[in-house]
Amino acid sequence: MKIEEVKSTTKTQRIATHSHVKGLGLDEAGNAKQSACGLVGQEAAREACGIIVDLIRSKKMSGRAVLLAGPPGTGKTALALAMAQELGNKVPFCPMVGSEVYSTEIKKTEVLMENFRRAIGLRIKETKEVYEGEVTELTPCETENPMGGYGKTISHVIIGLKTGKGTKQLKLDPTNSGAVKRQGRCDTFATEFDLEAEEYVPLPKGDVHKKKEIVQDVTLHDLDIANARPQGGQDILSMMGQLMKPKKTEITDKLRNEINKVVNRYIDQGVAELVPGVLFVDEVHMLDIECFTYLHRALESTIAPIVVFASNRGNCLIRGTEDICSPHGIPLDLLDRVMIIRTMLYTSQEMKQIIKIRSQTEGITVSEEALTHLAEIGTKTTLRYAVQLLTPASLLGRVQGKENVEREQIEEINELFYDAKSSAKILQDQHHKFMK
Ligand code: ATP
Repeated sequence: MKIEEVKSTTKTQRIATHSHVKGLGLDEAGNAKQSACGLVGQEAAREACGIIVDLIRSKKMSGRAVLLAGPPGTGKTALALAMAQELGNKVPFCPMVGSEVYSTEIKKTEVLMENFRRAIGLRIKETKEVYEGEVTELTPCETENPMGGYGKTISHVIIGLKTGKGTKQLKLDPTNSGAVKRQGRCDTFATEFDLEAEEYVPLPKGDVHKKKEIVQDVTLHDLDIANARPQGGQDILSMMGQLMKPKKTEITDKLRNEINKVVNRYIDQGVAELVPGVLFVDEVHMLDIECFTYLHRALESTIAPIVVFASNRGNCLIRGTEDICSPHGIPLDLLDRVMIIRTMLYTSQEMKQIIKIRSQTEGITVSEEALTHLAEIGTKTTLRYAVQLLTPASLLGRVQGKENVEREQIEEINELFYDAKSSAKILQDQHHKFMK
């Protein structure tokens, strides 16, 4: 199984608004420092997230779910990303927004399952055979293209290798040809599924023949993608790793089940280890009852990641139902198995600290007075709105020839834009002026 060729398909994250967040900022005992790793305040939630991170690290969390609940702009997304940072890049973290499931082309449950599998990692340990010596011959052997096209394909490569114990000839299949080109060294993979390995001319053991353990991290979704293949054809095992064929079939449940079987076998043999990661579902109230039912079932499977939901909604209708209201729009039976972490509104002092950190990240110099004013605006509106005023205010300042952002630029920009609450109030007061 040439897992080394399975490319990672980790989602690129749009985290610019959270790029100042570098971790949870906890001390050794797990207590939150008032301001550390880019995070300010929200101590209880940060400590709770720290415990979740510990549970994940000790592999006691898989199949469980956490809900970050709190008003808009209280740092739910920031906390989820901080958890990801704490877990490191070997633990998969897949962020998605509830509304992502709605598409005209892909079923909702399919989108969920795909993201589920992006959040489950597999660490594979392979033993690599390494032969060392001086390459004296390198002959690619061609055959007619078996696919019937033009040209020839390389069926194998003959290399001569001069070692301390004489010269040996090795016959390698073309997938190894990249490796043999490196002067004086040739690496080959000999694993259970590498049938070509049998063709290798055995080399004398000793200083020329070493075994090296390599570790490869992939997600189950990476394996799904690698095995989506043209219809009809070969057995799945031989296809492992033969990826990026131009024509792909849909990733079906059958294919996933087969991959699960192989993965389970690898785990039983001790060749691979499951690394349950984190699936972060922001705006969870956007999911509908069908998605919730599916998620509930998926969480119970033996291969499941840790699911972190976030919602800024109170009691609301569960989408897809006529009249069932529930906290955060999550069905009660699912909510019952979820651990809930609350995020609280910030004090104006905390807002000021956060805005200052943001301004430093964005390279904007803001006067003390302007920061205090932004924090006041933030307490009346939301933190996100206050943070969003920074860049326009700095642009305005530049036009006016100012080096620092001062209170007057903040005031002027605040006059031009509306926060969500003011906009909603205007709609309510002047509803007769708008189209229904
Ligand atoms: P919503 O419910 O609207 O999705 P949210 O709770 O997910 O909001 P975030 O998007 O995490 O809020 O926070 C808004 C902005 O404030 C982001 O730029 C975030 O990085 C920053 N932020 C929030 N809380 C903190 C904090 N405690 N320390 C530092 N930055 C924070």
